[in-house]
Amino acid sequence: MLRNVIILGSGCAGSTSAIYSARANLEPLVFEGHEPGGQLSLTTDVENYPGFPEGIQGPDLVLQMKQQAERFGAEYVMETVEGADLSSRPFTVRTNAGEYQTKSLIVAAGASAKLIGLDSERRLIGHGVSTCATCDGFFFRGQQVMIVGGGDTAMEEALFLTKFASKVTVVHRRDELRASKIMADRAQANPKIDFLWNTTISEVLDPEKGKVEAVRTRSTIDGSEAVISVEGVFVAIGHQPNTQIFDGQLETNETGYLKVYDGSRTSIDGVFAAGDVHDHVYRQAVTAAGAGCRAAMDCERWLDYQEQ
Ligand code: NAP
Repeated sequence: MLRNVIILGSGCAGSTSAIYSARANLEPLVFEGHEPGGQLSLTTDVENYPGFPEGIQGPDLVLQMKQQAERFGAEYVMETVEGADLSSRPFTVRTNAGEYQTKSLIVAAGASAKLIGLDSERRLIGHGVSTCATCDGFFFRGQQVMIVGGGDTAMEEALFLTKFASKVTVVHRRDELRASKIMADRAQANPKIDFLWNTTISEVLDPEKGKVEAVRTRSTIDGSEAVISVEGVFVAIGHQPNTQIFDGQLETNETGYLKVYDGSRTSIDGVFAAGDVHDHVYRQAVTAAGAGCRAAMDCERWLDYQEQ
């Protein structure tokens, strides 16, 4: 069956695209992807999404968006897209379970925050380990937190966290920051921020208790270890947009984010982008939702135009 529109991703951008395109009678097919609900499914309280004065749990918010889209006829499938042929229309999308044809495509596959790769880190995500200071910083009022990374994101998040935390320790694996000079200077001048150089985190304690109490650090110089008490760990070692399946087909910038033109159009006619897959600046649930709306509207107009 030839679909009007296939949406890749079921986070804020994908589900908002689904709501809009379903209400436009396009009967969208949504592939949930390897992380159904996107990055919000990995967080706990969301307090900056408008309309929820008491806050809402991240997984609840994305579930409600999905239910809202389904109410208007969007079809969600638990499949992961493994490849696509965008060289001719209709486009072909290959998943782990089959092959689909579609007139148009909305790529809302998101970006994944890079993690250090520790089992304890993964188990404590949303319980003291976070990849988003803007989202979770507020919960660490008066507490001591660590931030891992030496780039602009780590500096920006460290500075943001000083509004809440009593002390912010930046843990960096080298003795020189990657961040731009202005951001590095700003962070280094802040009395609430200190730096732990040539150090990595080898374990977050304590997954058995379901909360962060300390980290085990390791020196990258001599391998010596220490245990340092903290209540939160923010991992800011970069994001990876989920665009690999379109390598060589859709234009990206040098770090892999999709390039968009005139709103949400990508370099291929009929393929639109929404959310963190193209936005490396704002990366918020609400901006992703807005981008999802934009992509669905652009897509609907483009489909209309094709049929004239
Ligand atoms: P980034 O520049 O790639 O920096 C990542 C940092 O994480 C580096 O310091 C890196 O260490 C460290 N790192 C990577 N993998 C690690 C690991 N496994 N364990 C420990 N540390 C690890 O990423 P970003 O800071 O997210 O910035 C991405 C882009 O967005 C950059 O171009 C940046 O300038 C831009 N940005 C700009 C602003 C702004 O201007 N306000 C804000 C945010 C981001 P090494 O240094 O040793 O490689």
